[in-house]
Amino acid sequence: MSSTDRERRPTIGITAYITDLDLGSGPVGVHVAPDDYVSAVWEAGGLPLVLPVLREEGAASLVEIVDGLLLTGGGDVDPVLYGQDRSEPLVDVDPRRDVIESALVRNSIARHRPLLAICRGVQMLNVALGGSLIPDLPNAGWASHDQEGPSADPKHDVAIDPDSRLGRAIGRRTVAVNSFHHQAVRMEAPSLKVVARASDGLVEAVELVDSSRWVVGVQWHPEMMVPNHPAQSELFRALVEEARAVTG
Ligand code: MN
Repeated sequence: MSSTDRERRPTIGITAYITDLDLGSGPVGVHVAPDDYVSAVWEAGGLPLVLPVLREEGAASLVEIVDGLLLTGGGDVDPVLYGQDRSEPLVDVDPRRDVIESALVRNSIARHRPLLAICRGVQMLNVALGGSLIPDLPNAGWASHDQEGPSADPKHDVAIDPDSRLGRAIGRRTVAVNSFHHQAVRMEAPSLKVVARASDGLVEAVELVDSSRWVVGVQWHPEMMVPNHPAQSELFRALVEEARAVTG
């Protein structure tokens, strides 16, 4: 066993969602997170911890026990949270997730924890900090950002600001990414800046303006691309390295 193996791995909290599963006596609610996130964090040197969907008051305690946070993909953020009604096509809105994840965003930033937000995660990050979303891209006149091929395949390019945490982590100005979203950031929160756009202009990544915090959100799914696209694993490595600094 090398000394690296003995070092404590930085703990990365991965947000779960609740789904019904039949464990033998009828459907019960279970807290789950896809293996792609867990594996990507482990491969990057972190210790993944799947965080349950607690009530709002649980967020501070969860942030206390992790060195970094990963906001996962999933259903839509409730448009009411950014001042719109629910009239547009919405998918799997879960108010419990919105509440705990908003509180996790606020607590992790206040406690200087690094945060990587993926897909729904970047939308949640933006709304939690006061930004707004395009609730349904096709309805708003945008071309589809959904792909039909294998989920690890790139669908479109993104142009990345090289002078950003995302740019430094990925090390490239342009990267091809997958795309599974019918929503996107419309107006970024005052504390966030846009650091990557798709070729059609859509926001594909944001990060915190405050240069002392590592808070990055991407609209694509890097965890699905890790096995065949090494640049994407650098995002998880950067999160884990920032979390190591929290561990001290
Ligand atoms: Mn896209």
